[in-house]
Amino acid sequence: MTASYRSLNLVLLGPPGSGKGTQAAALAERYDIPHVSTGEILRDEVRRGSDLGERARAIMERGDLVPDEVLAGIVLHRLDREDCARGVILDGYPRNEAQYGVLDDILAELGRSLERVLMICVRDDEIVRRLSGRRSCPECGRVFRVDELPTAEAQCAGCGATLVPRDDDREAVVRERLQVYHDKTAPLVELYRRRGLLVEVNGEQSPGEVTEALMQAIGTPVTV
Ligand code: AMP
Repeated sequence: MTASYRSLNLVLLGPPGSGKGTQAAALAERYDIPHVSTGEILRDEVRRGSDLGERARAIMERGDLVPDEVLAGIVLHRLDREDCARGVILDGYPRNEAQYGVLDDILAELGRSLERVLMICVRDDEIVRRLSGRRSCPECGRVFRVDELPTAEAQCAGCGATLVPRDDDREAVVRERLQVYHDKTAPLVELYRRRGLLVEVNGEQSPGEVTEALMQAIGTPVTV
């Protein structure tokens, strides 16, 4: 890959628990562009108790998708901010065909386009295993793995709050989120493949190896 990018706009695709959040954070640091997680934006609204958060809470707790028009507003507003001018790593958006179309429209409106869609592949059994072993911080949203924590009652390494399982990481909800992923999000893989944008990476390697594979798929970093 010898291409260079004026603005590096990436979508990370993959089932819940495939490591999109971890990888998006690593890539954001590497390429110095923001990591935009729609799930994190929504969880923040829930934590703050905003009207939007109140509407989203029950939908998220049962593992379903928040309405497309809510997400369209969030994504347009976020991508239009100054810090996204050199690019963005989208994590959790688009999640269905309607959002797929909206994202193209938003990027066209902003005079930008998608450079790559990175698909992190992980099998369902592994997803269920991973998500039931995940703890998150109710204050700052950081995510940890149970088997990497010193005790079951661990504190957040970032802000010190006591870690809890995320409401939507219980097994029944994980299965529902996986079903929603297979029904609604997985079909986007084919649409992006046909446009020549898709790169698939094995998500069942160490986080560092996945990051390496993703960076190879992206190629040359932003040069402007
Ligand atoms: P995530 O952190 O990406 O797994 O998202 C957590 C939850 O937030 C999802 O299960 C949905 O309820 C909601 N959510 C996040 N992104 C979207 C989206 N693009 N469209 C609809 N709902 C979303």
